[in-house]
Amino acid sequence: MFDNLTERLSGVMKTLRGEARLTESNIQDALREVRMALLEADVALPVIKVFIEQIRQRAIGHEVLDSLSPGQALIGIVHQELIAIMGGEKNELNLNVTPPAVILMAGLQGAGKTTSSGKLAKWLMAQKKKKVMLVSCDIYRPAAIEQLELLARQTGAEFFPSQTDQRPAEICSAAMDYARKHHLDVVIVDTAGRLGIDEAMMQEISELERLLKPVETLFVVDAMQGQDAVNTAKAFADALPLTGVILTKLDGDARGGAALSVRHITGKPIKFAGIAEKLDGLEPFYPERMASRILG
Ligand code: GDP
Repeated sequence: MFDNLTERLSGVMKTLRGEARLTESNIQDALREVRMALLEADVALPVIKVFIEQIRQRAIGHEVLDSLSPGQALIGIVHQELIAIMGGEKNELNLNVTPPAVILMAGLQGAGKTTSSGKLAKWLMAQKKKKVMLVSCDIYRPAAIEQLELLARQTGAEFFPSQTDQRPAEICSAAMDYARKHHLDVVIVDTAGRLGIDEAMMQEISELERLLKPVETLFVVDAMQGQDAVNTAKAFADALPLTGVILTKLDGDARGGAALSVRHITGKPIKFAGIAEKLDGLEPFYPERMASRILG
């Protein structure tokens, strides 16, 4: 479906074989190909612009090693820059607080918040040996509370019940009292999402953030959102002090451009990737792998 960028670039750079340096004029066509590849990978336009400019500046004057063609040299630079823009090394979850540590989940409805809450609980229990409790503040959708309860049962995490006639802040305070009393390590708070950004929803979650003082406020975003991920990310980053991102549904056929856009817009690292619907379908995010996926 997608042409491989490496092949495309070696096509346009063929004529340059033997040139020892990348220059403004000899990388012109190649940068156009990089731009096309990023567009096809669904990276947002403003992000592509900034990124191409960075590549141009790094590439010009770059000596091409004898063992490489100019095309390969440019691919190398693009690959390194993609990794750098996505945060370099993988980013660990921060649980460095007196327990219970709170992880607040934010995002649009359908992004994968509830599923990711369950997956994260499972991951924290299995990988970090933490005692985890799940609590839902989605008082608008009883089905969401039930879904979280089911996930708690499946993972063996504790579940703090909430009712639709309670206020989210009231639920959270009671959940924190319970977690402190029972010496739990981590409380994952799932929040209500809406189909689009709306003022009341942002206000509600930002009140919860101030009340809970979470050590991690994770923005959950669907990789399939492509270009739209930018607007959503911007709205959440403006309303909340995000600490990281969970990029879901990477098992779909999204090329992963949302990773680049979201990282660029929020300035926050992507900490986890959702790679399957099932409960063990969450893994730490590796910028290296995503760079290879975007390059195709
Ligand atoms: P929420 O409204 O943000 O809480 O979203 P949900 O957690 O209910 O997820 C919405 C849908 O996306 C559900 O059908 C999930 O099974 C599905 N989903 C969530 N994460 C992933 C993922 O990483 N991969 C796949 N294939 N499906 C996912």
